[in-house]
Order: sequence, then C-alpha cells, then structure tokens
Amino acid sequence: MPDLPPIREVIHKHGLAASKALGQNFLLDEQLLARIAALPGDLAGQQVLEVGPGPGGLTRALLRAGAKVTAIEMDRRCLPALAELAVSFPGQLTVIEGDALKLDHGALMHGTPFHVLSNLPYNVGTALFVRWLGGEAWPPQWLSLTLMFQREVAERIVASPGSSAYGRLAVLAQWRAEARLAMKVHRSAFTPPPKVMSAIVHVTPSAMPAGISARTLERLTEAAFGQRRKMLRQSLKGVPGALEALAALGIDETRRAETVSVAEFVSVARALDRRASR
Ligand code: SAM
Repeated sequence: MPDLPPIREVIHKHGLAASKALGQNFLLDEQLLARIAALPGDLAGQQVLEVGPGPGGLTRALLRAGAKVTAIEMDRRCLPALAELAVSFPGQLTVIEGDALKLDHGALMHGTPFHVLSNLPYNVGTALFVRWLGGEAWPPQWLSLTLMFQREVAERIVASPGSSAYGRLAVLAQWRAEARLAMKVHRSAFTPPPKVMSAIVHVTPSAMPAGISARTLERLTEAAFGQRRKMLRQSLKGVPGALEALAALGIDETRRAETVSVAEFVSVARALDRRASR
C-alpha cells in the first residue's frame, strides 16, 4: 500500500479551504473512511463511481480496498490532490472534472456495472438519489448506492408507513430496492462540522414488480403525498381511475397517504396502468 500523507496535510498543501458554496465538509478520519468504503462489501476489482471526492479521503479508502474508481469533482482546486492520488494507485483512478448533475453516469462507466459511493452536499445528493432510483429501466446499471445524507433525509428514505418521515422518498427507495440506514455519522466527524447530523444510506436494487411503470407510481405518490394530511379520496381525486382502484383493491379511501404501504401503492399504480392500456 502506498504511504500517503494525512488528508489534513493534503488539504493544507493544496490550499483546499472548504467552500460553503460547494457544500464542502470534509472527512479526515481514515478509520471512519475505511468503514464507509467497506459498506458495499468487497470492492477489490469492482468499478466504483464516486461523486464529489474533494481532497480524496473516501477516494483513497476505496483505492486501498482495490476498487477501480471514477470520480466526478466540480471544484478544480481539488484536481492536483486527486492527480497525486492517481499516481500512487496506477491505473485505479480516473478523475472527471464536472457537475455530476449534468453528466451521463452510465456512459462514463462505459456500460459496465458499478457501485456508487458519495459524500455530497445534501441538495445535490437528493437530486442524484431521485435520478438513480427513477426511470423505467430496471435493474439499473449501478449495483449499490452508499450515500451520505442529512440524518432526517436518511430517515425519510428508510421510513415505514405510519411514521411522519414516510413519504415519496420512502416509496421511491423501497418499491424496487432495499434501503437501509447503514451508519450514523456525528457532525463532529466533518471539517468544518455542518449544523446537522448525518447518516449513510445503503441501497441495492431488487426485482421490479410486474405490470407497472415508474412514471405512474411517481404521479400517484406525488398526488397522495402532495396533500399528505388529506384523505385519499381528496388527494387522489384528480388522478383518473384512482378512486375506483382503491375500491377494487379494498383500500379504504378515508385513509391518509402516510398509512398506505409501498405494496399498496404498487397495487394501485398497477391498476392505473391496466386501466390506461385498456
Ligand atoms: N468526499 C469528500 C469527503 O468525504 O471528505 C468531500 C465531501 S464534500 C461534502 C462534497 C464534495 O462534492 C466537494 O468536494 C464538492 O466540491 C463536490 N461537489 C459539490 N457539488 C458537486 C456536483 N454537482 N458535482 C460534483 N461534485 C460536486
């Protein structure tokens, strides 16, 4: 294993004062970073997409685990530090300068399956999460997602029906994937520390239920949770066929969206798609 200087020294050497505008909160603890890199399982020889490597703390943990890493970073100041890392791990690291929200990740990974690991600013992380979990093509090209979120957002992703955290994000994350809260990370682990606590969510794809389009499920949950305090008969009034589907499936229309399980949403969406294809 190459002998690398502590990340704090790398930050100092390259003048990488954390930028608030870019949501930069760096992780410096190499043991913590190694534990995060181990969350997807054995990465030796596996392709990994890392979004937002910054000075490269998580990146070096992934490289040490034997992963082949493609890293997208939009802060040019970090590129020399990442270039040094690439020299220490020949043939293992490709760095792409750019905005991950604007890039086609599947094409970047040349059509091969890949794991995603990322410690991103929270707004960018949620936008990418929705994109990775969305779309009609399933299974996706990614094998797993290991993502740092603000703790409340992580709780919304893994939430169960009946809890106040349960909503669109939970349905999106759980209808054709397994999502679990893999690790809580205290704010003091970051430099500088953010105002909020964080948590890492680990997601793996599972089978997509048959006879249902992602778009229909998205429209349904958008309507249902758009007015989450209202009864379904009110919130789904504008979705053609939804109230008939509830009746046919024996789902009480006086319930609220937050009590409807992921499987029930899937059944209603399937009934809507069946109706549309008639
Ligand atoms: N991975 C490092 C760590 O764990 O210490 C840095 C994490 S820092 C929270 C987020 C990183 O994402 C920063 O380096 C920032 O420049 C980068 N970033 C922010 N928005 C981005 C985007 N849209 N595309 C690519 N990188 C982005």
